[in-house]
Amino acid sequence: MKDLVLRRALVATARMTSHRGLNRGTSGNVSVRCRGGFLVTPSGFPYDAMRPQDVVAMTLDGRATGRLAPSSEWPMHAAVYRARPEAGAVVHVHSEAATALACLRRDLPAFHYMVAAAGSTSVRCTPYATFGTEALAAAAVAALEGRRACLLGNHGQLAFGATLEKALALAVEVEGLCATYLRALSVGEPPLLSDAEMAEVIAKFATYGVARPASSARDRRRASR
Ligand code: 13P
Ligand code: ZN
Repeated sequence: MKDLVLRRALVATARMTSHRGLNRGTSGNVSVRCRGGFLVTPSGFPYDAMRPQDVVAMTLDGRATGRLAPSSEWPMHAAVYRARPEAGAVVHVHSEAATALACLRRDLPAFHYMVAAAGSTSVRCTPYATFGTEALAAAAVAALEGRRACLLGNHGQLAFGATLEKALALAVEVEGLCATYLRALSVGEPPLLSDAEMAEVIAKFATYGVARPASSARDRRRASR
């Protein structure tokens, strides 16, 4: 089977969206870019029963290879890969807090500095469009401009990253931020950070967690054991 390692990683990530409480039942879908297009979860398929051979291979213009039907949201995944060359993986979930905010059709504003993890000063919410349509795909790409995540009106959220790990981590982050925002809103309107304050955070994120202290000879010996 082609792309077995990627297929395994895709299935593991898809299962995690359900085990980490981001998805219920067969809602949501996950994809990863591969040579010639992308691999995507099959439509309406329980995550725990999913095997690498159930994954569907697709070209960016929508030609599918596999025994099963690709996720109904394949147009949205394909549109993200076409519009954003830096996207290596896309995670779409119906996580509770992000979906609650999306049902209010509200953006997630700069109420907390970690909103910058999605790349900008807010996570935008799209207008409503029917699931699986080109209209939803176009709305998501528009809302993602300058960002790696968006809310989908009356539906859920989408996050992408260079890798499956990063896309999943961002979806988890967005969900947590939406939960905190809704909690803050239950008491009042939180003050928002300014564009300048957010720009400072975004600049700091460029090196956050990247630099490692030079390893000592002892560390290197330990690592090689
Ligand atoms: P699929 O099962 O077709 O991937 O659809 C789930 C979903 O979340 C639609 O938006
Ligand atoms: Zn959905």
